Amino acid sequence: MGNQNRRDFLKSAISIGTATAGLNSSKLNAKPKNILSEDRMGVLVDTTVCVGCRLCEQACQIAHGFSDQDIDTIKSQTEIKEFRRPDHKSMTVVNQFNNPDNIENQINVKVQCMHCDHPACVSACIVGAFTKEENGTVLWDSDKCIGCRYCMVACPFQIPAFEFDIAIHPNIVKCDFCFDRTKEGQLPACIEICPVEALTYGKLYELHKLAHDKIKNYPDRYIDRIFGDLEVGGTSWLYLASRDFNDLGFPKLSHNPSPGVSEAIQHGVFAYFIPPISVYALLGGVMWLTKNKNNTESE
Ligand code: SF4
Ligand code: SF4
Ligand code: SF4
Repeated sequence: MGNQNRRDFLKSAISIGTATAGLNSSKLNAKPKNILSEDRMGVLVDTTVCVGCRLCEQACQIAHGFSDQDIDTIKSQTEIKEFRRPDHKSMTVVNQFNNPDNIENQINVKVQCMHCDHPACVSACIVGAFTKEENGTVLWDSDKCIGCRYCMVACPFQIPAFEFDIAIHPNIVKCDFCFDRTKEGQLPACIEICPVEALTYGKLYELHKLAHDKIKNYPDRYIDRIFGDLEVGGTSWLYLASRDFNDLGFPKLSHNPSPGVSEAIQHGVFAYFIPPISVYALLGGVMWLTKNKNNTESE
């Protein structure tokens, strides 16, 4: 393809993009809503108390209409010692780790969305389908989602899952902190069911204090660290443990909020009212030109 044709193509792609920008910019609101209320809620997970019963998994599945299986069926389908991540059928899972100091005493770790204070998923989402609510919950809106799955790539905890087995309108699936329940004054389903109070629900600043008090009062029980206190700028779910968190499946993360890069790119683009279709038109044009260039070279 000659240079003139390439220029014409890019001009057309840019014109389409600009035209669609004019049509859609008012509808698109990519600026993330991120309200960090002083009174936001959180959960303190005490892994030294959790007995690995997995009733939280079952309660979560029932509360969200994924399954009504009894706990024995759930346990027969997946092994607690097999390391799992939350998926599109279970927003939370419990993993078991060996405790080398006491082989009888395994360490059980419940995993779900951490409801980050500066959520990378919120920043990465180009159409504002993710929001950080005032009570600390990070929510996802099926009506806004365009299925790009940037959120899955952006999340430092690998939490958002995708309904790959659903052909029409598949959803992103992740813990919603039982938003429908908490706004009615109910406890999240997993917290309500936990038989040993391994999960404490409350105001985040109070949970921080509780966690520090536990570490101070029981130095032989806990390592001197709260996971989620500083990681990626802080999370609404906090963890206490008797062992290094890196031995328990937790990722090593910086203390800086991770949204920085994705936010700069995504919202820099949207600040100039360029909606996704314009970006796709430009990217399509670049791919088309590259393909033609490769064809010419191979010829
Ligand atoms: S853990 Fe992942 S999905 Fe959950 S709020 Fe943080 S970035 Fe978003
Ligand atoms: S808070 Fe609700 S959605 Fe999240 S893991 Fe617990 S039961 Fe599941
Ligand atoms: S219900 Fe409580 S004790 Fe049972 S696995 Fe979940 S967090 Fe652990």
